[in-house]
Amino acid sequence: MSPEWQPDRQAALKQLDDFLPQAGDAYRRGRNHDFGPDRRGNVSALSPWVRHRLVLEQELVAAAVRAHGTDRAEKFIQEVFWRTYWKGWLELRPEVWDDYLVDLRECRDALSAGPELRDRLQHAENGETGIECFDAWMRELLTRGYLHNHARMWFASIWVFTLKLPWSLGADFFLRHLLDGDPASNTLSWRWVAGRQTPGKTYLARADNIARFTDRRFQPQARELATDAPPPAGLPDHPPPTLPSPPDNADPGLRTGLFLSEEDLHPESLSGIPEVRAVAGSHCASARSAEPVSDAVLQFTNAAQADALQRAASNWNCASTQLTANIDARGILEWAARAQLEQLIIPWIPVGPARDRFGGMIRDLEAAGLRVCQLRRDWDSLCWPHARAGFFRFRKAIPQLISELVST
Ligand SMILES: Cc1cc2nc3c(=O)[nH]c(=O)nc-3n(C[C@H](O)[C@H](O)[C@H](O)COP(=O)(O)OP(=O)(O)OC[C@H]3O[C@@H](n4cnc5c(N)ncnc54)[C@H](O)[C@@H]3O)c2cc1C
Repeated sequence: MSPEWQPDRQAALKQLDDFLPQAGDAYRRGRNHDFGPDRRGNVSALSPWVRHRLVLEQELVAAAVRAHGTDRAEKFIQEVFWRTYWKGWLELRPEVWDDYLVDLRECRDALSAGPELRDRLQHAENGETGIECFDAWMRELLTRGYLHNHARMWFASIWVFTLKLPWSLGADFFLRHLLDGDPASNTLSWRWVAGRQTPGKTYLARADNIARFTDRRFQPQARELATDAPPPAGLPDHPPPTLPSPPDNADPGLRTGLFLSEEDLHPESLSGIPEVRAVAGSHCASARSAEPVSDAVLQFTNAAQADALQRAASNWNCASTQLTANIDARGILEWAARAQLEQLIIPWIPVGPARDRFGGMIRDLEAAGLRVCQLRRDWDSLCWPHARAGFFRFRKAIPQLISELVST
């Protein structure tokens, strides 16, 4: 089965439904195998929808518990919580995203100064390294906008330790081409492979492991791949993790509009929203990188947002407008004035390019006299504070989080 990522919620729910029978023991046993792009039945392939919250982590967990019970679905549930963990980890440490952007800029500068690095990067990006598995994953990434988790780990490891390319250029390349490209899951996973996330720990792709888990579709020679993955020295310390204080509640007495970024496209399920008189959305998928973002990613994001706007309009029985991508505060104020809005609800925009883009805009809207209320889901407010340390500690909170957040 080759997944088709139709950019709407209905397709996400169908995929969840189709996958559900596999979410128990079968997933635990088989999830690490990458059988190739046309045989993805051993994983859910839900990530492009989950990333934009066309379907919620909560819904995945609830469905898996209902179908298999918490014990049998434990592995699948844990993987879903990995996403929540990464989101929380970065939300508590926004400076790590800023550091990534600085690192990326420095690497780009180094590219203009050094033709040798530029050539090696080009070979990798063209899938012309001569390492068969890597070149095939590169083609898959460029044509499908998706890679299996294990392939992402091998790919990133070969990028960093065999090809000796800077990790941040790899993370940027993924963000430009993955339909599920996410500032938290992507940046922190690349940091983890490269040894920047867990001090002293790196991930080394091994030839025998690749052969085994690709069902021998690829059988690289051990000498083709790096044999060690030394951890980097001198990692910076981060300030203590802090979660921004809970946002204000919406004022039910004010004429209210809803503004959607691309970060949360299931507004119907948000609690605490007064009656909505108008809905608008704008996304900034092109801002995921300073380099061009793939057409597939732009189209997926655009259509996914259009789907959410349509659902919101019918949910609140009001008009909806998809504003141009990368809109500024003036464009939103014009729309808000036309709809005579006094208050704007914005589903929480987590750390990453959308926060960078819309964060300043929100301040401008408030300065212009529009009340803005950013709504954070209970899921995020309750789970994120547990991401202060490693996943092992986070994992211990999962049963309690499920009992508080998931109705089955
Ligand atoms: C280098 C690297 C880069 C990555 N970049 C991204 C990214 O940009 N966006 C992204 O969503 N995931 C990223 N991942 C995590 C993971 O590879 C994908 O979420 C997963 O492969 C998606 O496939 P699936 O939906 O079939 O997952 P399943 O195995 O079916 O898991 C179900 C859901 O759980 C979540 N999930 C599963 N594994 C992970 C994980 N390790 N980390 C975070 N969430 C997880 C996803 O939302 C996924 O849809 C990255 C991993 C690596 C190693």
